[in-house]
Amino acid sequence: MVTVGAGKPCPLEKPLLSKEKAPGTMTQVPSVVADVARLSAWLLILVVIFVPLERIFSVQPQKIFRKGVGVDLAYYFISGLVPAVLLAVPVSALAWLAHRYVPGFMLEAAGSLPPWARIVAGLIFVDIGYYWGHRWCHEVPFLWRFHAVHHSAEEMDFLVSSRAHPFDIVFGHFCGLVPLYVLGLAGPTREQGGSDVALAVKMIGIVWGFFIHANLNWRLGPLEWLISTPAFHHWHHTKSGPIDRNYCATWPWIDWLFGTLYLPARWPSDYGIQGAMSDSLVDQLMNPIFPPVAATTPVPDSAAPVATAESRSNEPDVVSRVN
Ligand SMILES: [Zn+2]
Ligand SMILES: [Zn+2]
Repeated sequence: MVTVGAGKPCPLEKPLLSKEKAPGTMTQVPSVVADVARLSAWLLILVVIFVPLERIFSVQPQKIFRKGVGVDLAYYFISGLVPAVLLAVPVSALAWLAHRYVPGFMLEAAGSLPPWARIVAGLIFVDIGYYWGHRWCHEVPFLWRFHAVHHSAEEMDFLVSSRAHPFDIVFGHFCGLVPLYVLGLAGPTREQGGSDVALAVKMIGIVWGFFIHANLNWRLGPLEWLISTPAFHHWHHTKSGPIDRNYCATWPWIDWLFGTLYLPARWPSDYGIQGAMSDSLVDQLMNPIFPPVAATTPVPDSAAPVATAESRSNEPDVVSRVN
């Protein structure tokens, strides 16, 4: 989603900050049932919004029940339930460290900003943190094992935003939160290590994540440099290249700053990864942790042969591109 990319937590993830009972109590069962009901309601809303739009304004003609849609539905619920639990401890630790070591004047300066300014600043700095976490997921083979699950989708629609390994979501989300806490934009903390700004930034990112994965042919002209769009993120999912571009979730100009923006007028011809990926949900969840001995680890995009500098420089119809 997520991130933003991928690597983004999936919908309507219950805020980390809600007053939950400790794991293991009898209240967990009705809590999970309530979470599933909440996620189901949001899924219905997303379907009502995106399915008709994706039929009318499709980039690629494809079926609603495309390949992998069942697995992606499972990821939708897994992403909405699991990462919040996995994130609780590291985010609490991050909040504690920030509270202890970030100079008081920074916390005061950030706290003096009006809420809208803190949210805008939060969206920018979260995306800078997410950019690097996401980029490392492509460049570090161990991280790519998890992130490849998100890139294994061969057809794009809004639901692909949910297709991510829980550890990939946790890593990307944590990287996004680091600058938020270091700069004091997330404080003051609550009992589980979050804040209203962190929650607002996360929810905006989740909703935007569905949009940029959607099979929507909308182009926004120069605005595409400012804010991420389906075209921007679809190029991140291209299989044929140029690859390893467009890491940000929200602000393409951050990719421009770091030299990885790619935004041509055309659309990718295909999506997916160079290596093999099992269609089984269990395999996708377990193989990154316990790689099959005989299996070939998916090749990181950065190592794929199609990503040569020559092939990138020969792209003919680039509207805007910075290497
Ligand atoms: Zn994606
Ligand atoms: Zn990626």
